[in-house]
Amino acid sequence: MTTPLRVKCTKCLREAFVRIPYAKLNLCNEHYIEYFEKRVLKTIERYGLFKSTKRVLVAVSGGKDSLTILRVLSRYRDVLEITLTGLHLDLGVGVYSEKSREIVLDMCSNHGVVCNTISLSDLLSYTLPELVRRTSRPPCSLCGLIKRYVFNVAALEWGFDVVVTGHHMDDILVFRVKEMLMGQRESEVAKLLPFTPGVTGFYIARARPLYEMYEWEIELYSKLTGLKHLEVQCPFKYRDVISSNIAEMLMKIDSEIPGFKITLARRLAKKARWDISTEKITPCQYCGMPSSSGICALCKLTLKTHGKPMGLTVREKLRSTRPI
Ligand code: AMP
Ligand code: ZN
Ligand code: ZN
Repeated sequence: MTTPLRVKCTKCLREAFVRIPYAKLNLCNEHYIEYFEKRVLKTIERYGLFKSTKRVLVAVSGGKDSLTILRVLSRYRDVLEITLTGLHLDLGVGVYSEKSREIVLDMCSNHGVVCNTISLSDLLSYTLPELVRRTSRPPCSLCGLIKRYVFNVAALEWGFDVVVTGHHMDDILVFRVKEMLMGQRESEVAKLLPFTPGVTGFYIARARPLYEMYEWEIELYSKLTGLKHLEVQCPFKYRDVISSNIAEMLMKIDSEIPGFKITLARRLAKKARWDISTEKITPCQYCGMPSSSGICALCKLTLKTHGKPMGLTVREKLRSTRPI
């Protein structure tokens, strides 16, 4: 990926190392970094991600995607007029979680960002592997449910305006196409838009500034800027046959029509201008957080794993660890 292309950079006289097919550009490493950051800033502008927000909580896992977005935002926080705080959830998955935590703390301190680490075992008395053993739910869906609840409640209790995640275009498109094939409620789809508006007291807004970025672009940016990210894979990760075939199909189309994925991502964002506030929200009878049926996903889960709903406990614990 960083072998010389034997042509000059489109923007300067240096040798080019990176070819951007959809933009017909050949770039040197320095200009690639600049190009990438500008594209993220344009995405932020296009979707008005920080239009009415000041206090931004970035969910940082230790993977290349969230470290990349943390780096870009930390460089441009003054221009964007935002304050940045990191949030890391330690899931207690052995060495994988230990390394993730180390990397996140290191990254945040190097970029002058205060990081709040929450440990799942402090919140729920169990690590993720222990919870997996107590339910029949697939680990990834369990983990997703917990992360959604914790990020939302942490941001609500701590008074943030928006939660930023490192979701990127490749993953989002696979998810969206898969849901189109399998059939899905529109409100579920709203979860992976560039911006999901908040609902006072229930949902904190979500922003996904890497919505239009290819995974290879993020990988290259993190490599060229020397980001030390997690190399260990989550032991629960598995190959989903449908998703990997959709990814392959999209990649093939994109190689024949450069930029196809970006066009598709933009169309989907336009089409699904879904206002989450129109979704019927019933406060959970145990913790007050949003639910569709009167009991939220976390309380439902913990009724099984703990024999009692834990939402309120989690909310109180997060409230008491409010960062200064
Ligand atoms: P994933 O669902 O693992 O693909 O992660 C999507 C995004 O969620 C990441 O880019 C992060 O922004 C965030 N995230 C995932 N895991 C964690 C974690 N343990 N702590 C904080 N943020 C996370
Ligand atoms: Zn150049
Ligand atoms: Zn609840």
